[in-house]
Amino acid sequence: MSLKNLQKSHTLNSISLPSVTTKISFRGRDFYLKRDELLHYELSGNKFRKLYQLINTPSKTYTKLISYGGTQSNAMLSMAYLANKKDWKFDYYCKNIPLHVKQNPQGNYKKALDLGMNVFEVEHDEFQQSISRLFLQINPHEVLVPQGGADKIAEVGIKVLADEISAWMDEKKIKNLNIITPAGTGTTAYYLAKSLPECKIITTPVVGDENYLKVEMSALGKYPDNLYIINTEKKYHFAKPYREFFQIYKELKEIDIEFDLIYAPKMWLSLLQNLEKFEGDVLYVHSGGISGNESMLKRYRFKGFI
Ligand SMILES: *Cc1c(COP(=O)(O)O)cnc(C)c1O
Repeated sequence: MSLKNLQKSHTLNSISLPSVTTKISFRGRDFYLKRDELLHYELSGNKFRKLYQLINTPSKTYTKLISYGGTQSNAMLSMAYLANKKDWKFDYYCKNIPLHVKQNPQGNYKKALDLGMNVFEVEHDEFQQSISRLFLQINPHEVLVPQGGADKIAEVGIKVLADEISAWMDEKKIKNLNIITPAGTGTTAYYLAKSLPECKIITTPVVGDENYLKVEMSALGKYPDNLYIINTEKKYHFAKPYREFFQIYKELKEIDIEFDLIYAPKMWLSLLQNLEKFEGDVLYVHSGGISGNESMLKRYRFKGFI
């Protein structure tokens, strides 16, 4: 479907493409920034791109969207929003939810519940088996999206992002481009690399280590030659607060760009620590996820980092 048709036909018509690209100066260097976080609040950043094909699917195609993952996931909120707008039920499977979360829902979890999400809690030990069963039992009127939107359906929307970047490169006459974006499942980085063989795609693993990331990406196909994984000197655990993460978030906020507190800080830190390796212009693709900051900022305050 063309961009024009997208704008006309889908019910989420506040989203207009292409997203803007701006130039920022940060720690003495110039970076281009693809502002995908401005596309939409709930369907922000790469979740909009990954769900693009579903966004463009007529409501009557399905009656239910099913997924699974963490209780503060950005993908969960995006899918809850999408299902709500499409009038689809949304069933979401999570591992044991802590009592305090159930009694006092917050952040993305609360927002998704308010949008009609049905939560199914599964014992830790039974989780994998329950998920396998979901894949076997799916019927044609339901759509099952793997955790974090790590699925081949993501390719169509990420190709649209890649086409926007190509058109922008032509307009700016940029030949040698490094594209930066953080990886959870690696789906976004993978399909960007596949769709833009003339560019270097640089990512960092935020959820697990480099090996985990490569395993995740191997489920999507052959590893692209133009995809590079960089890392920070220090090891970080997923979704934990760190002083240096907050520091970089704050500095970027001071130049009026808000990033998420889970993925972006590690990407920026590893980029800054490896910058001399990359020749040419640098385009950071903002991966969105700012809706998760509310609950993360609470944890930063609790830790005394703010
Ligand atoms: C989901 C998410 C990612 C990870 O995207 P993948 O395609 O799973 O690698 C990165 N940044 C933000 C803010 C996200 O919400």
